[in-house]
Amino acid sequence: MKLNDNFGVYVCPHVFKNESPVLVGIRDHDGDWQFFCDDENCHEKSEPHLIGVGHLTQADPTINELTCLKHGSFAQKIHANSEWEYGELE
Ligand SMILES: [Zn+2]
Repeated sequence: MKLNDNFGVYVCPHVFKNESPVLVGIRDHDGDWQFFCDDENCHEKSEPHLIGVGHLTQADPTINELTCLKHGSFAQKIHANSEWEYGELE
């Protein structure tokens, strides 16, 4: 499954400005997707931006794998080239 390129997702400012690859993908309890850099505090202290997911999947096609995320779960990876590891939100 592949998300439509225009599908809106939230990203942190670092991902938005291409300062960091996406290393964390979250599907929250409302079903919204959010993508973050490697700073684990980023989502608490930064303002999210809404973009089309095509901007992300162009840079990292493995983000298409995250369409399998259920509500209330997440995926993360150590480096841009690592495998996604999945978990549940608390
Ligand atoms: Zn960030």
